[in-house]
Amino acid sequence: MGNVLYLVIPCYNEEEVLPETSSRLLEKLGSLIKLGKISEKSRVIFVNDGSKDRTWEIIEELHQKNRIFGGINLSRNRGHQNALLAGLMTVKDYVDMVISMDADLQDDINAIDEMVDKYLSGMDVVYGVRGSRATDTVFKKFTAESFYKIMNAMGANTVFNHADYRLMSRRALDGLAQYGEVNLFLRGIVPMIGYPADVVYYNRGERFAGKSKYPFGKMLSFAVEGITSLSTKPIRMITALGFFIFIVSIGMLIYSLVRHFMGATIVGWTTLMVSVWAIGGLILLSLGVVGEYIGKIYLETKARPRFIVEQFLNDTDEME
Ligand code: UDP
Ligand code: MG
Repeated sequence: MGNVLYLVIPCYNEEEVLPETSSRLLEKLGSLIKLGKISEKSRVIFVNDGSKDRTWEIIEELHQKNRIFGGINLSRNRGHQNALLAGLMTVKDYVDMVISMDADLQDDINAIDEMVDKYLSGMDVVYGVRGSRATDTVFKKFTAESFYKIMNAMGANTVFNHADYRLMSRRALDGLAQYGEVNLFLRGIVPMIGYPADVVYYNRGERFAGKSKYPFGKMLSFAVEGITSLSTKPIRMITALGFFIFIVSIGMLIYSLVRHFMGATIVGWTTLMVSVWAIGGLILLSLGVVGEYIGKIYLETKARPRFIVEQFLNDTDEME
């Protein structure tokens, strides 16, 4: 039977939540298997991201007790995105679909049913989208929502209010595997893969134990990472600014000349004003142009797939 589902869960110092998380997920998978929606070969895979506590020991114990649990142990802490990617790429060849989620179960696991239903109806990617942020603090809500808005404004297209809670089919994972870049921002790359996709809404709860592993500083660098790894739009903004200032300098030239001929200026002011603006504008403009090429080099070095073929209709008999 097909429909093998693997849950992939990155864990960093999660000893406090793992016992509870594992028993809730066991129940969830059990009910899906009973309903015949997923195969008995389905698994829960925890990725230990170089934890300093007993996380890996707990994963080993779980695996001993029940083979539905598996684990991947990374050699050291590589951060959430890399841990997740490691999990997805390691299990890719065993699955029909994968759902990635956090160890703290802040993302409602009841959305899994709906994700699987959407997969069964032919979707390759199903994004979990937060319906409400009732339990988040005003600060977290504001920073998180600004994050998505700024990201999109800077050319890094992501699904609004979607974190890394998502289902991906085997072929979507194969598509993802073709992205060879080191700075991989999953939320931005997955929409690039294509294939039929849909969303599922859920409410985000509170972390039931332990502390957040994403303090504000980490979130900020995550945003910068996301923008710079996906888009070269910031470079284009320099070019635009340079162009704008250059236009201003022409205005200044006219203005200064008018003032000069009216005799209303001190000697030297005109040349000084004009050169300051013109040189400034030209420098920014040149920086932007150089930047455009660097941006191109940057994108080229990522060696992204140029296309992924979804279907090929071709009757080869006719060609004989
Ligand atoms: N995580 C990880 N490596 C890290 C930091 C976090 O694998 O270096 C995992 C963590 O164990 C959790 C998920 O990433 O499963 C999300 O972290 P957290 O819940 O702390 O983030 P928040 O929900 O506060 O944004
Ligand atoms: Mg969390």
